[in-house]
Parts: sequence; structure tokens; C-alpha cells
Amino acid sequence: MEEVNTYIDDLKNTIEQRDPDQTEFKEAAFEVLDDLKPVLKRHPEYIKRNILGSLIEPERIFQFRIPWMADDGTFKINRGFRVQYNSAIGPYKGGLRLHPSVNLSIVKFLGFEQIFKNSLTGLPIGGGKGGSDFDPKGKSDAEVMRFCQSFMTELQKHIGPDLDVPAGDIGVGGREIGFLYGQYKRLNGSKPGILTGKGLTYGGSLARTEATGFGLIYYLNALLEDHNDHLSGKRIKISGSGNVAIYALQRATDFGAKVVTMSDSDGCIYDPNGIDLNVIKQIKEVERGRISEYVKRVETATYSMDSVWDLDVDYDIALPCATQNEINEKQAELMNVNGVKYVAEGANMPSTPEAIIAYKKSNIIYVPGKASNAGGVAVSALEMSQNSERLSWSFEEVDNQLKNIMEDIYVKSSKAAKDYDLGDDYQAGANIAGFEKVAQAMYQQGLV
Ligand code: GLU
Repeated sequence: MEEVNTYIDDLKNTIEQRDPDQTEFKEAAFEVLDDLKPVLKRHPEYIKRNILGSLIEPERIFQFRIPWMADDGTFKINRGFRVQYNSAIGPYKGGLRLHPSVNLSIVKFLGFEQIFKNSLTGLPIGGGKGGSDFDPKGKSDAEVMRFCQSFMTELQKHIGPDLDVPAGDIGVGGREIGFLYGQYKRLNGSKPGILTGKGLTYGGSLARTEATGFGLIYYLNALLEDHNDHLSGKRIKISGSGNVAIYALQRATDFGAKVVTMSDSDGCIYDPNGIDLNVIKQIKEVERGRISEYVKRVETATYSMDSVWDLDVDYDIALPCATQNEINEKQAELMNVNGVKYVAEGANMPSTPEAIIAYKKSNIIYVPGKASNAGGVAVSALEMSQNSERLSWSFEEVDNQLKNIMEDIYVKSSKAAKDYDLGDDYQAGANIAGFEKVAQAMYQQGLV
């Protein structure tokens, strides 16, 4: 074990020296490095080949300028990124995030997580991620279109159906994917396989919009069943009100659970009767409005400017579906007081390292996003398959495959945890199971 510890310490020092300011990336990478120690003990050949040294360094990073014109005629400049992290098991695959917080650290942490998530899906996709510090909030459709066109004018040089296939993430939904695809097509001709999350009229897949939220609930259902528990009658807190949150609400309600909270960047709603899906869809998808609107339409609901995670109410399951590091240690401790038994992440890395320690101390079962939110990218890979065969599958076909994939991810991560005597540590289980496939592929491919 001494050799393993020294190797991991050296890797952490390398990251620290290369990227001292990349807080989010360091958080994601250090967690994985620690969890993989028992695997390295069993596979000294991975140390000899420095597989992890290779894995922590992206294969390629593009950073570029995105000029666009606002409606008032002013010239704006944003920064764009695409990180092609690892292609050991397939073409780079991962979303594009549009949010003012986007920087290299965030894109790298997301790309790094994507390697393990994509591997867990069992489908042949490598890890990548991209985005820009452009803020779509408050922009007109025309501004978003001009921005997306300019973004794609540069991005198109680096992507391709067998090379790198972006999709959506925070701030990138059907509207943005449409504008990005339109621009790609003007420059290169029709090639549906270059993006996923496309509209159904031009090569998109049924059930892609629902996939991350539905997948989260399929994973959760498998987890609960394995613990002789069930979703019916459970009280659930969801944070966020984007795609992931909305479709998690829908499937959780279908399974008989009651979702009592949702949020946006201004505040949160609490509805003890269970949040009404149709009202939320109308506000968020049709009107593109704020969550506070909900309390004007549903009498039983209250609105607060606090974080969802500070609301002191009893509930059973936490599904953070907003953004990274949204739950701190104190909020994780409050979950224990509130009677929470399970945390399953719909967002990427929404729990701080201190929050995760608090879950583990209080025996809350914790599932990291790279396992429980893999449904989105899994259906993206199914969209790529449909594009290759120039066919489109029925909703039921895609939804069934999604359910099988999520159940398989549950089985894989719990098996890996058991195999290494880690009990219910689904974080280590996911890291180990995701890593094993990528590590074997890298090992077999020689110097990569
Ligand atoms: N952005 C999503 C994720 O975090 C989906 C990526 C994709 O579909 O490529 O996994």
C-alpha cells in the first residue's frame, strides 16, 4: 500500500503544481484518486504504466474567443472551451454549458467526471465537455442565436460524429442545440451525428429530453429495491427546475413519491402536497419564467429566498439537480436531522467533499452524479446509434433501454463496492467500476 500512497500523493502534487487555482477540477480528481487506491493495490501494472498520470491530463483542450452582436448593436466577447479529455473507449462525448461561472476548472472537472460516467453506461463513448461564460439569462432569442452561431463557427473545426459529439448541459437546451446544429450544417452540410439532444424533426431521439431525470429515478428505484425499500409514499426534495429536475419530478410522482421542493437561482418553493408537474412545465418550459410564479398559482405552496437545503422540514430523499457544490457540510448535517436516508445526485458534483463526509458519518446512502445522472448521456449515445443507422426508435424502446442501463449501472457500482469490501460506498463503487473499463482500454492500447 505504501507504493500506492506515494504514487497517488505524487499525482496530487503534479495537479497542484500544474493547476493550483482549479478548485473544482482538484475536488473531482482528488476524490477519484483516493477511491482508486484499492484498485491500484490489486493492479500494480497500472502504476507501472502510469495509467492515472495519463488519465488526469486531458488529451486536448481548445480555448477560443466568441464574438457576437447584442440587439443594441454592441459587440460582445465571450470565452469558449472544449476539453477532449479521454478517448480510450470511444469518441469524446459530453455537454456544453453556458453559464457565467464557466471557466477551465469547471470544464475540466465536468470532462473528467464524464470519463467515468460514460464508461459506466457500458456504451462506447469517451469523455469531453465544453461551454462558455455566456449568460443566456435575459437574452433575446436572436442574441442566443447569434452567440450559438459564433460558438459553432469555431467549435466545428474540432468535432465530428466519430471524433467528438457535444450535447446540452446547464443553459443549453433544445433551442441552443438547434441554433448550433443549423450553423454546423451551413458550414459542413447535414451530419446529424455531430450533436445530440437535437430536435425530433432533424435527427433527435425520443426520450432524450426526459432521459437524465427519468434515469435518476430508475437508478433510485433500483437502489431502494435492493435495500428492501420503495419509492411509493416517500417525500423528496429536489433542487433546480431545469430539465433534470422537471423529469425527475415527473417519474418520481409516477412511482408514487411526493416531491415537495424545487428551486432556481433566486429561491425555492415548498409544496407539502407535492409539486404539480403541469404548473412547473408551464412556468419553466413554456413561459421561461421564475419558480416564484408557482406560489401565485398553487395555494398550498410557499416561496423562500433560502436554499432548498436550508429548509428545515422532514423528508426521506434528497435529489440535488441544480449545480456543483450546492450542498455544504451544515446542510448535509441538517439532512440527517430531517430524517433523510438517501441522496442521489441529478447534477454533477452538487455535494462538497465535506458534505459527502457528513453523509457517510450519518449513514445516509449517497450516490454520486456520475452514476445516477448518467441517463442523459446514455440516451445521447442511443441517439448517435439511431443517427448512424438512419432510423428512429420508439419512445418505449429508448425508455426501456434507459431503464436497463440505469439498473446495470446500479448493479455494476454496488458489485465493485462489494468486491473491494466497501459496503454501501456507491461513490467508490462508481469510480472503480467506471475506471476499470477505461484503464483496461488504455492498458491494451499502449502508450496513450
Ligand atoms: N450534460 C449531460 C451530462 O452531464 C449530458 C451530456 C451528453 O449528453 O453528451 O452528462
